[in-house]
Amino acid sequence: MSTTAADTVLAGLDDVRPHLEDLYKDLHAHPELSLAEHRTASQVAERLHEYGYGVIDGIGGTGVVGVLSNGEGPTVLLRADLDALPVKEDTGLPYASTVTTTDGDGRQHPVMHACGHDVHITCMLGFAQLMARAKDSWRGTLVPLFQPAEENAAGADAMVRDDLAGRIPRPDVAFAQHVLPYPAGYVGVRPGPMFSAADSLRVTLYGRGGHGSMPQATVDPVVMAAMCVVRLQTIVSRELPAATPAVVTVGSVQAGASSNVIPDTAVMLVNIRTYDEDTRRHVLDAVRRCVNAEAAASGAPREPNIERFNVFPPTVNDDDVAGRLANAFKARFGDDFHTIDMSPASEDFSLIPDAFGAPFAYWGIGGTDPDLYAKAAGQGTVQRDVPVNHSPRFAPVVQPTLDTGITALTVAALEWLA
Ligand code: ZN
Ligand code: ZN
Repeated sequence: MSTTAADTVLAGLDDVRPHLEDLYKDLHAHPELSLAEHRTASQVAERLHEYGYGVIDGIGGTGVVGVLSNGEGPTVLLRADLDALPVKEDTGLPYASTVTTTDGDGRQHPVMHACGHDVHITCMLGFAQLMARAKDSWRGTLVPLFQPAEENAAGADAMVRDDLAGRIPRPDVAFAQHVLPYPAGYVGVRPGPMFSAADSLRVTLYGRGGHGSMPQATVDPVVMAAMCVVRLQTIVSRELPAATPAVVTVGSVQAGASSNVIPDTAVMLVNIRTYDEDTRRHVLDAVRRCVNAEAAASGAPREPNIERFNVFPPTVNDDDVAGRLANAFKARFGDDFHTIDMSPASEDFSLIPDAFGAPFAYWGIGGTDPDLYAKAAGQGTVQRDVPVNHSPRFAPVVQPTLDTGITALTVAALEWLA
């Protein structure tokens, strides 16, 4: 077997691994919410400096970008996300988070790296360090980018609006990875749609309140909301072809406070997942049509108000980039490489390569204890027994998760830089 550039770069992994595992546990124990990733961002910036990278920090709030120029060659951008979630950790790990934070309204929230972004940060720093140590193995410019606020779709947009494109080298290709509830060691990519678009809607239905004993004198927004909830279920089941995936979930209905008062308004929070712009437009139009029609059917005094928030673009991998990655990953990971299924999760990463017109690919790595996964798979209970991202019990095993993420970043970057 011939020695590849990846072999040379990854030869340093044994040396840095203990330090990286300590870093991972430290990050896990010190999670920070979206746009408040100050400690995390300064740790990242400090390490990039130490490894010899030029560092631009404070982009879009707490965003940090490293730049390592190493002669003529392509520019490769790789992105990690910095933020954690308002979830109370229940993993029982010795390095579990006990952090709570106070929001602007004075309310306390527990904080946890429940989406595994601490894995992404650690892998990116390990990769950045190894690449800086092995500059003879590659040519070009390496741009590790650490983005704030992925969870609320604010961070990539904030970096782009803060003139990201004017402040860092233009990438020829861009990558990101996410730890997912597959067995640790798993690596998966796919051409085309990878993650769905997500749209959240706050729908306010207007009625006319009154006494619960005299509904004839009112327009009842509770009944209107109930009809809307049922009617919205028909968008996916009756209006989309069977092979077109989409999700419409009504996650919240709020109205009234008493059994004998008919309220004036009802508020529904609706979440929509789609994989292409035509379907997205159709579903958004259909929600509007349904709620307007239900309001009219009820004799509502005015049309519902619809506000859109937490808007994520679809993540659609470039076919050529994903194909090149699939070949490189297959050569490196063998049977642990898979063509991953597309997922109804959502991501704002694509806004970054889109700001440069650069093609990109996004891949997944496993983080679940392989024994736990195999047992659940054997019993047919994966959905029930394998904690997923955002669960209070989401607990990626440290290894081989970190090694896999570092190796995947290295193989991907060197596919362009070696
Ligand atoms: Zn998440
Ligand atoms: Zn995430």
